[in-house]
Amino acid sequence: MAEQRLCYLDNNATTQVAPEVVEAMLPFYTELWGNPSSAYGFGSQVADHVRGAREKLAAMINADPSEILFTSCGTESNNSAFMSALSVQPGKRHIITSSVEHSANMAFGRLLEKRGYEVTYLPVESDGSLDICLLQEAIRPDTALVSLMWANNETGVMFTIEEAAAICRMHGVMFHSDAVQVPGKVKIDVKDLGVDMMSLSAHKLHAPKGVGLLYVKAGTKYQSYVTGGGQERGRRGGTENVASIVGFGRAAELAMATIDDENTRVRAMRDRLEKFILKQIPGTSRNGNAEKRLPNTANIAFSGLEAEALLLLLNKENICASSGSACTTGSLKPSHVLTSMGVREEIAQGSVRFSLGIYNTEEDVDLVIEKLPGMVECLRGNMPGASRETQMAEA
Ligand code: PLP
Repeated sequence: MAEQRLCYLDNNATTQVAPEVVEAMLPFYTELWGNPSSAYGFGSQVADHVRGAREKLAAMINADPSEILFTSCGTESNNSAFMSALSVQPGKRHIITSSVEHSANMAFGRLLEKRGYEVTYLPVESDGSLDICLLQEAIRPDTALVSLMWANNETGVMFTIEEAAAICRMHGVMFHSDAVQVPGKVKIDVKDLGVDMMSLSAHKLHAPKGVGLLYVKAGTKYQSYVTGGGQERGRRGGTENVASIVGFGRAAELAMATIDDENTRVRAMRDRLEKFILKQIPGTSRNGNAEKRLPNTANIAFSGLEAEALLLLLNKENICASSGSACTTGSLKPSHVLTSMGVREEIAQGSVRFSLGIYNTEEDVDLVIEKLPGMVECLRGNMPGASRETQMAEA
């Protein structure tokens, strides 16, 4: 029997590594396996390739290569920004972030609170956007860092981080942004944005997992978080993940060419899928602002069902999507992003994220359009009181 083809609509979780990226990486597992820190030619030729990747990534975000610091992932980049800001300003013990950040910030914030720091989590509006006046009011003389994500991984909603950065500049406060979901989808110009630090992760950009970067604007005081050898000009110890760094660089080059596709073809597919669901499946609504969001993400609430059950049915058809729910001790906790937006718990638990990418085709959208209505109907039929809830949501 022919294997069912994969319909992958979870590109905010991770992305398929581009064949061109794999090709660029392979020599670093076979002939070019030297240590880039070695003084002899066999090592320094590897260092040249790391330098090349740094230049390509810097070009993608309009930075200088010396402002790019390679890390092991987006999480490490975020954690490093927090720790650096606190280390270089020991008298300042307050951090501001938002209530809808990725766990890379949320969990680290809670850890810092346990260590005696103060963290303010700014609330968001019902459409996932941030009232920038709240930031202005939250800044204190002891604020060491403001860290706000650029695009939300669950809803795709984008904060106006250039405004946040300007407010921070006015108050002399460092500003970091988690932009892990942005590259390849929206053009990044760190100079226009005015950020001091910015995190990216390769695996959201058709490059491998386990490599990220932190942009640190020239002149920003920086203290290393992972300390060891003198790699990354003494700012991040540890032998470089050379093959992955080279792959990340190649992905940056490709992303500059595919960004138009994300904003035309991918956006149109996302919109077709979203419009179909909202129009044709009763009891559905969009979570998040329709305009100020990534072109690839649709987060849909299905009333009267559990998202996890719907994901299982989708999985049977080899369709991959996700929910923001987290499983803790066997019970499903609704997404902190959706509950922060004021979405009712039962609606949050029935919300599914579809995130498309450049490898999706209209066939993928056709498949979901064909299968989804029946699945939703079937699940609602199995839920006690489902029909009443569905009618309420339609009203
Ligand atoms: N920040 C955001 C917004 C993310 O979506 C993710 C990953 O899902 C991360 C940070 C963490 O990145 P990584 O998986 O590279 O640690």
